[in-house]
Amino acid sequence: MSDFIRYFSENLTALYCLVGILSLCIGSFLNVVIFRTPKMMEQEWKQECQMILHPDQPLIESEKLTLSYPASTCPHCHTPIRWYQNIPLISWLFLRGKCQSCKASISSRYPLVELLTMLCSLLVVVVFGATLHMLFGLVLTWILIALTFIDFDTQLLPDRFTLTLAGLGLAVNSFTIYVSPTQAIWGYIVGFLCLWIVYYIFKLITKKEGMGYGDFKLLAALGAWMGPMMLPLIVLLSSCVGAIIGIILLRKRQENQPFAFGPYIAIAGWIAFLWGDQIMKVYLGG
Ligand SMILES: [Zn+2]
Repeated sequence: MSDFIRYFSENLTALYCLVGILSLCIGSFLNVVIFRTPKMMEQEWKQECQMILHPDQPLIESEKLTLSYPASTCPHCHTPIRWYQNIPLISWLFLRGKCQSCKASISSRYPLVELLTMLCSLLVVVVFGATLHMLFGLVLTWILIALTFIDFDTQLLPDRFTLTLAGLGLAVNSFTIYVSPTQAIWGYIVGFLCLWIVYYIFKLITKKEGMGYGDFKLLAALGAWMGPMMLPLIVLLSSCVGAIIGIILLRKRQENQPFAFGPYIAIAGWIAFLWGDQIMKVYLGG
């Protein structure tokens, strides 16, 4: 491991190339995760409902969807997508955003997610250099990208990601990578409780559900990575991010469309992860 770190600290260009290419491929995989996870969850819920409501009837066997099965096809003509049509970014540009068989347009979001994953990953390398902080930081970044888009699409923050993220944060910080183990544990607890309290007060006053448990779990996970001291900044930043994105999307949104808070927490958390210390220094003068 130390050889690996030494080699890349001396060859930063090699590190940028490696992370650049790797993160494009990860971005391509994240597209699958973002698209399929909500569908997989829905399939599981349907089966659970059926088992509870009609335990005596045999399960309706629909084809089980996983991240790797079935292979990707064009959503319009169902032609299988070949490996050379699945090269991140390049294939989309080469096909000019159209399916080769039926010429239906392929959403520009796929290459954009790949590009975004690459840019965010490279920023992590810029900030942390060839260190363990960078390596774990990449994992955090990738999970946050998946969560942001899934919540944006479906208003869901799946436990499988928020709880994994929290577990990873606690595990990483048990070796005092970003904060001490004690801080990580308190970050987790305070992160969960502070949004829960806001939620509960909001519910008492308005009798409406303002946010979901997924939001608490996400903030708890970020607390486990960065400790409790970073939480006020994350909450503050998330309202700034929310205001900016809210203004951009205001015209596109329909009335009463459900509101996802998770993406703002995730983006704010990521900014705080990379530059939180500098932001705090500038504004708190310490
Ligand atoms: Zn097609």
